Amino acid sequence: MIYMDNAASTQCDERVLAAMYPMFNSHFANPSNTSHSMGEEANGHVNEARRLVAKNLNCLDSQIVWTSGATESNNLAILGSIKATQSAGATRNIHVVTSSIEHKSVLSPLEALARSGVEVTFINPNSDGQITVADIVASIKDSTKLVSIMHANNETGVISNIEGVGQILKERKILFHTDASQTFGKFNLDVRKLGVDFLSFSAHKIYGPKGVGGLFVKDEAKIQPILHGGGQELGLRPGTLNVPGIVGLGKAAEISYVQRETDANRIYEFRKRLEAALMSIHPAITVNGHQLERIPNISSVSFPVKQGLRLTDYINNIALSTGSACDNHDRAPSHVMIKMGKSVHSARNTLRLSIGRFTTEDEIESVISELKLVTRGLLT
Ligand code: PMP
Repeated sequence: MIYMDNAASTQCDERVLAAMYPMFNSHFANPSNTSHSMGEEANGHVNEARRLVAKNLNCLDSQIVWTSGATESNNLAILGSIKATQSAGATRNIHVVTSSIEHKSVLSPLEALARSGVEVTFINPNSDGQITVADIVASIKDSTKLVSIMHANNETGVISNIEGVGQILKERKILFHTDASQTFGKFNLDVRKLGVDFLSFSAHKIYGPKGVGGLFVKDEAKIQPILHGGGQELGLRPGTLNVPGIVGLGKAAEISYVQRETDANRIYEFRKRLEAALMSIHPAITVNGHQLERIPNISSVSFPVKQGLRLTDYINNIALSTGSACDNHDRAPSHVMIKMGKSVHSARNTLRLSIGRFTTEDEIESVISELKLVTRGLLT
């Protein structure tokens, strides 16, 4: 099996595993109990991870809140900031702007808020899969309290102009959240330049463990907790800290900081080779999304498959997805492809191939050969 699903999750880097291991046996104490040296030591490891992650985002260590992953970070940013807005007195006429191609962990909490009376505008992408600054500005009202727009889309890899949006929202004093799950650790992200109040990230997209992530919070006064318990993480996220996971995330961030450019260049060359070879199979095969404003590791490719057939039924040796892994439970066509104007049939015959640090040249060649073979006789 060739793994081409790195946008869904990545293999843990051995260096990350090595950093995590001692946290399970020698440094297992609860980092919140610093009344003894073992707790203090565990807390030291958590703080070092905080420093490494903060360095990746150019923020203060104290602005990082650990969570169980980007799903929780997105929920905390959205539900927690609206809760804080409501506590500050704005109980009526709350408006939120987002896009229709966000991950389900942004769409679902916003749909829940909409059911409770918050007004939510879902902006559609243009045909390149981008959410434009002009469309965001046009949807802002006096009652707009929060804008949540993802940095790079997890299905197409298309990047939206977060910095441009950030500048405008700062002037208008509107809170700004971005889901950076697909760009954190892969790009030089600077929260000050981006102008965001909240930024979500996850460890398992950057060769770290699953079930751990974080939220950058610019000003803790602008957000309230959505879980209640102990006072960990500035009182914003209670629960005993996942020390092995956090240390793994810190190590993954440290490695990425050093090698993200080398990784990106190598991955970009692989993607160019892959896309050129796939497009040579048939003139109607298309690579979706903006061709320049796109992260290097994701290719969304639509195949002109004969009606009634589904390409993935014929692919046995490549681990890939059609749409997001999180949507695969219901086998529904990708909401991103549909919002970009594809038919249900075309959305179902769009493959997301995502390359990673451990992908080899041989694997890229094998994927090309396999897809050439499999598509024979299936295309219109
Ligand atoms: N947002 C985006 C854009 C993602 O790609 C993912 C992972 N599929 C998530 C959020 C959810 O992240 P996690 O798995 O850490 O909850």
